[in-house]
Amino acid sequence: MLGLAALPLSADEPKPVTPAYNHLTDKEEISLGRDIAKELEKQRKLKFIEKHSLQDYVNHVFEKVVKTSRRPNLPYSIKIVDTTELNAFSLPGGFVYLNRALMEFAQNEAEMMGVLAHEVGHVVGRHVANNISREDAADSLMTEASRTLFGDDTPARLVKQIASPVALLALLKYSRDQESEADMLGFYNMQRAGWNPQGMITFFERLDKDPEGLQSIMALGSDHPASADRAARISEEMRNFPAAPHLILSSDGFKEMQAELKKLPPAPKPSAEVAEN
Ligand SMILES: [Zn+2]
Repeated sequence: MLGLAALPLSADEPKPVTPAYNHLTDKEEISLGRDIAKELEKQRKLKFIEKHSLQDYVNHVFEKVVKTSRRPNLPYSIKIVDTTELNAFSLPGGFVYLNRALMEFAQNEAEMMGVLAHEVGHVVGRHVANNISREDAADSLMTEASRTLFGDDTPARLVKQIASPVALLALLKYSRDQESEADMLGFYNMQRAGWNPQGMITFFERLDKDPEGLQSIMALGSDHPASADRAARISEEMRNFPAAPHLILSSDGFKEMQAELKKLPPAPKPSAEVAEN
């Protein structure tokens, strides 16, 4: 197991600080993430690709990013969502979802890994857990009735909040600062895991030129900064802290994965807006 001490901070990689209002233990965060995952999968009617060769490939590359992250000891898992929606997302405790459309859109493995490293960055930064713990978020999402019913015991209160689709989406929304932090954590993490961070830059640049892709990646957690700005920020970081030359851009495994996806029936469109009940 890789301890944190074994992984020196690279250059100016951010060190996320957990705010004082987030009292969740890892165990509570994992349990909360599991509940949110269940709820989200149900609400959004997610369909998964469970073909062994594809799941094995994704597990393999994902594990490398997880093990070299600054929070390697969570029970991370990754699911491939069968959808035309270009997106990926993560939940507290390390539950990560990678959409098929994104695996198809990526033009090399490093582009896909940049996205995965970014998602792991949200988990490392405890972003959703922080959002959920914020007093003002809790207040605005909780009615007097539910407060009376559930008291203020953290886990029970939080589980109640996620039952509403609207509340759930609000809780999963990241601030721009959180997005930037996840970008920077991902930028360094993907390099420790062995991939060329150039992939993160080209991914955002291509996304910026693809209006459909841009629209769909903003659908969940809709406050993503403009892709062009993100690409520029990462390029600047890379000029200041150049990546090692041996880092990989792509692999045979990646090409085989894309060929496998082509053989599958077309991906379903995402289910329409979540019901309000
Ligand atoms: Zn993000």
